[in-house]
Amino acid sequence: MSDWNPRTKLVHSGTRRSQYGEVAEAIYLTQGFVYESAEAAEARFIESGPDEFIYARYGNPTVRMFEERIAALEGTEDAFATASGMAAVNGALASMLKAGDHVVSSRALFGSCLYILEDILTRYSVEVTFVDGTDNNAWAEAIRPETKAVFLETVSNPTLEVIDLRTVADLAHAVGALVIVDNVFATPIFSQAGALGADVIVYSATKHIDGQGRCLGGVICGTREFIRKTAEPYLKHTGGSLSPFNAWVMLKGMETLDLRVRAQAASALKIASSIEGHKKLGKVLYPYLPSHPQYQIAQDQMGSGGTVLSLDLKGGKDAAFAFLNALEIVTISNNLGDAKSIATHPATTTHQRLSDEQRAELGITDGLVRFSVGLEDSDDLLADVQRGLTAVSA
Ligand SMILES: *Cc1c(COP(=O)(O)O)cnc(C)c1O
Repeated sequence: MSDWNPRTKLVHSGTRRSQYGEVAEAIYLTQGFVYESAEAAEARFIESGPDEFIYARYGNPTVRMFEERIAALEGTEDAFATASGMAAVNGALASMLKAGDHVVSSRALFGSCLYILEDILTRYSVEVTFVDGTDNNAWAEAIRPETKAVFLETVSNPTLEVIDLRTVADLAHAVGALVIVDNVFATPIFSQAGALGADVIVYSATKHIDGQGRCLGGVICGTREFIRKTAEPYLKHTGGSLSPFNAWVMLKGMETLDLRVRAQAASALKIASSIEGHKKLGKVLYPYLPSHPQYQIAQDQMGSGGTVLSLDLKGGKDAAFAFLNALEIVTISNNLGDAKSIATHPATTTHQRLSDEQRAELGITDGLVRFSVGLEDSDDLLADVQRGLTAVSA
């Protein structure tokens, strides 16, 4: 099974069939499990076998199917599924850190990730140094002999900078630090995060894995030692486990993940290439445009530009709002990775909490629009984007 190609793993890995031989994965919508005897209960609390469960916060057969499927795809020994992407990010970091530890993190992070690193961990006396993730020298300077972990998003939100993961991982490993990556934008399909040196790979399954905007979920992938000895005890006792129903939605999402993200990425590249240079646009940010500062890294590391692009309208907020309000197919929302195309104005929504200086530092201008490309016909999407651009006054 480990020599299956990704698309086969996405459909079959981790499947557990009951005595009924169901074709589709069963939803074990149960929080508890009964024991044959008091002795069996005692034995299971001492050590549970692979098909033995105790309580859904600890594990559940449907959740286990999802964990085994994503671990097979990532090529990691194990995985722990969480209630959301943020439960996964928090679980990966908080389970392994203690007061006095030092962490180095890239600064361009999803807002809630930044909150965990900047506001929560520091409250427990973890020291966090933030760097410009695209500057390898900054990582080299910030990583110290006592650094315990580095944290980064392989492709940043919303400016789509691509971090040179192999270089950062080598620097971290030289001092024995754990490399924890949030790989949402790269997706489990375009990612080589484990092969490039990531020790722990975290996903918000809410995004491409569900891919149809239904459920929250997340997952932490890593070695069996890290998942079962470090992450699981923290998560199962603090309540961050995934619900069996949501695990089932994610399992079914995985079956079509490869087909969906490749189609979305092809449309994203087509749209980015078509609108680059438009007179109302300052910049089009997409890792697979040759003009992108990390174009070469994106090619080596992902083999794709991903499903999201960002456009910077020269006319600032007024232009961005005129563009958004003229769209007829693309919806205004803040999710990404969905079958439905979604446009977001980060400065006034997802990144509103940041100060003007912080936004400027991250390149989040008033004219920036993030565009998560969906599964609609790419010509229709392009026409919609053109309609948006036409609505912007010159
Ligand atoms: C959405 C997202 C998260 C958080 O995931 P939730 O499932 O919403 O908790 C974390 N990191 C990145 C990069 C994201 O895009």
